[in-house]
Amino acid sequence: MYRKTTGIKICIIAITVLCIMILSGAELSYAAKPENEKNIIILNSYHRGFEWTDDIVSSFMEELGRHTSHENVSYFIEYMDWKKYPTQSNLENFYESLNYKYRNQKIDMIVATDDKALEMAVRYRKEILSDAPIVFAGVSGKSFENIAKGQSHLTGVIEEADIKKTIDLATAINPRMNRIYVIHDYTESGIAMGRSVTDYVKNAGYRINVISIAPMSEADIALTVKTLPKDSIILMTSFSRDSLGRSVDNPSFTEKIAKEASVPVFSLYDFNIGRGAIGGNVLSGTVQGKLAAELCAKILKKGDIEAIPVIKEDTSRFIVDYNTLSRFGLSLEHIPRDSEILNKPLSFMEVNKSVLYSIIAAFILLGIFVLTLSLNTRKLIYTQKILQENNDQLNTLFEQVHASEEKLRDMAYYDPLTKLSNRSSLNEDIAWHIENFASSKAALMIVDIDNFKYINDTMGHTFGDELLVAAAKKLSEFENESLKIYRISGDEFIIWVTDRSCDIKSIAERIIQSFKNALYVQASKIQTSVSIGIACYPDHALDSLELFKNADIAMYEAKRQGREQFVYFNEELNRAIIERAFIEQNLQNAMEDNEMMLHYQPQYSLDSEKVSGFEALIRWNSPQLGMVPPLKFIKIAEDSQKIVTIGKWVFEESCKFMRNLYDKGYDDLIISVNISVVQLIQEDFTEFIIDMIEKYDVKSSSVELEITETALIQSVDEAYEKLIELKSKGISIALDDFGTGFSSLSYLKMLPIHTLKIDKSFIDDIVTSRLTQNLVGSVVSLAHSMNLSVVAEGVETREQMEFIKKEGFDKIQGYYFSKPVCEADAIKLIDYRRSKSS
Ligand code: C2E
Ligand code: CA
Ligand code: CA
Repeated sequence: MYRKTTGIKICIIAITVLCIMILSGAELSYAAKPENEKNIIILNSYHRGFEWTDDIVSSFMEELGRHTSHENVSYFIEYMDWKKYPTQSNLENFYESLNYKYRNQKIDMIVATDDKALEMAVRYRKEILSDAPIVFAGVSGKSFENIAKGQSHLTGVIEEADIKKTIDLATAINPRMNRIYVIHDYTESGIAMGRSVTDYVKNAGYRINVISIAPMSEADIALTVKTLPKDSIILMTSFSRDSLGRSVDNPSFTEKIAKEASVPVFSLYDFNIGRGAIGGNVLSGTVQGKLAAELCAKILKKGDIEAIPVIKEDTSRFIVDYNTLSRFGLSLEHIPRDSEILNKPLSFMEVNKSVLYSIIAAFILLGIFVLTLSLNTRKLIYTQKILQENNDQLNTLFEQVHASEEKLRDMAYYDPLTKLSNRSSLNEDIAWHIENFASSKAALMIVDIDNFKYINDTMGHTFGDELLVAAAKKLSEFENESLKIYRISGDEFIIWVTDRSCDIKSIAERIIQSFKNALYVQASKIQTSVSIGIACYPDHALDSLELFKNADIAMYEAKRQGREQFVYFNEELNRAIIERAFIEQNLQNAMEDNEMMLHYQPQYSLDSEKVSGFEALIRWNSPQLGMVPPLKFIKIAEDSQKIVTIGKWVFEESCKFMRNLYDKGYDDLIISVNISVVQLIQEDFTEFIIDMIEKYDVKSSSVELEITETALIQSVDEAYEKLIELKSKGISIALDDFGTGFSSLSYLKMLPIHTLKIDKSFIDDIVTSRLTQNLVGSVVSLAHSMNLSVVAEGVETREQMEFIKKEGFDKIQGYYFSKPVCEADAIKLIDYRRSKSS
């Protein structure tokens, strides 16, 4: 176990070490000196801090750095300090030092600034400086020729200043100027410099004396310059060492001289300008260094120094100090155009350039801002407009939605025609009442316009609608806090009364009464009436459905009782309804199941006192309901159109019966068949009747159709043609239940009728009521005058019979003689009567 973990540890350490080695190896190779590294030694004749030297060195390195940014250059910088120590021993020490440092150091390039350094380089490069190529700067043409004689691998920048421009400026300032006092180092090179100025001035043909004031101490020079004649100038070269061998701080010395001199001070080097010298065409260490660096870069790049010539062109430039010019009351007009002017007061434009630019920039920014603002404002206005529009649209939409909502609510709770509340509203109101006042009494009244269907059918729906609106208006007059009117369908209005103290009966009466006044519809006066069914909560029903149903039953009862009245719901009505529903249900199959049969009730001719015919009366023996009297099911059969089939069956059975009688030899009898108005209005009614009598070969004169007075009057338009046709075929028509309707006899004159059957109700009274006697008497005589036969029905007693005989009736029918009997009994009866009479 121990061994195993140690093994793992060793492995981890080994891997870590390997990783470190790889990484550090990579770093090492990265840090390794590139092979193409260039070693450049810069030899300076003078000391560090001497402006000329410093300018050359720094501008050289800066410029070369620009050219060799991708190469690796190492600098070795050496100062000979020749201004301070212009001695042989300094040279020897310097040699020793170089020898010590560089004999075994690869040197790729020697840069020599000024004469002494060049001399040194030329002399020792082979020996101690890898015989590297030399690039020099700051060396005068003359010195170059002396030092570099016979040398190769050497190039550089000649330091040659054209002092002509300086002298011209001085002459321009003072045309009488004829003396130049030259201040220079009291050294070999300084003296050479002074001499070169003298030579130059002489050679250039100026009639100017050049006087060297170098062989003096610093203090003497300072004194001397104070009293120089007006026609002279001072020309400063460089002054780092006076004749006493003391080193001088050139910058402060120049400042002092410039300040105290009685004449303007001109300069040969740029470093004096700005310290009180007026200026001149000056040499610049910076320019020298820069040009030397360019040469150096070319050599490094090309490698062939011989192909790169020495720069001998004038490298000087004209610089003046504006402050000093002003001190001597001089203007800039004398200054060459391309001059560099130090301390020149800036023009308003220059001074305020930055402010101006800032203002312009501020204005531009302001402009942009204003522009952006105006654009944004426009955008804002536009957006606002759009928003406003959208808002308006939304408002309209909202109004529409609101209107739609209201409309929907209206549709949901109001009847669009009469603007009364509708069934939904009623249901809610009833439910609310039951929920909140469960034990409180209320009443639901259904108000139905009598004969509305008839009005609607005959006058048109628009008229019908307007009638409903008028009726609604009339009913609305009854509305109050506890009485609300609704229209739930067609001509059915509802009154919901919630005040228990309300006199429902009186409300119903008043409503019926109010409809006695005509309604005005489409400028015509229309007489209507209403029937009202009333159901009370909680006596008759406990919920809205039940209330409806019961009020409806009551309303139908009101109709049945002859309209224009109100009926309270009661259980009896309910039972009748239930029974009706029962009958309706069972009637469905009664025909197919042969539950129907015909009975025949004889009619007697009062003339012949013989059976003149029979009335066919239907009987329904229902297994479920027992014997159902026709009065109970005929109406129901009519409502469901079943009467059509039933009626056809009755008529065919009657024809068969007649056929039977014929066959038995009785061919002078008449069969009276009850015809419902529903049958009568059928298209094929006449055709069917004729077909049947033909089918059973029954004489048309043996057939009489009984139609009730009320039914005939109601459908006289539809029935009239048919009756005419039937009459033309020889079939008789009897007006049944005469006296119960409203028809006048004169009206009946126009109808194709043969017989009047005076209703049983008259017969019932005939013995007791004189009025009835008179009435019946006049009806009979009038009927006779119109050639109508008159039948009395429902004759039950002898007395009745006596009266009827007396009144002149033609025939009688009733229990007095015989009840309706089955076919066999009917035949027996004829047989019996005939045998009796014969
Ligand atoms: P209706 O046409 O007036 O018929 C006469 C009714 O009076 C018959 O009643 C008959 O039985 C009854 N009746 C006759 N003499 C007397 C009497 O002396 N005293 C009493 N109390 N009643 C008498 P029923 O058969 O019950 O028929 C009732 C109604 O039913 C008929 O009245 C008729 O309108 C209708 N009906 C009967 N059969 C048919 C039918 O086949 N077709 C049609 N459409 N209606 C029929
Ligand atoms: Ca009848
Ligand atoms: Ca009758």
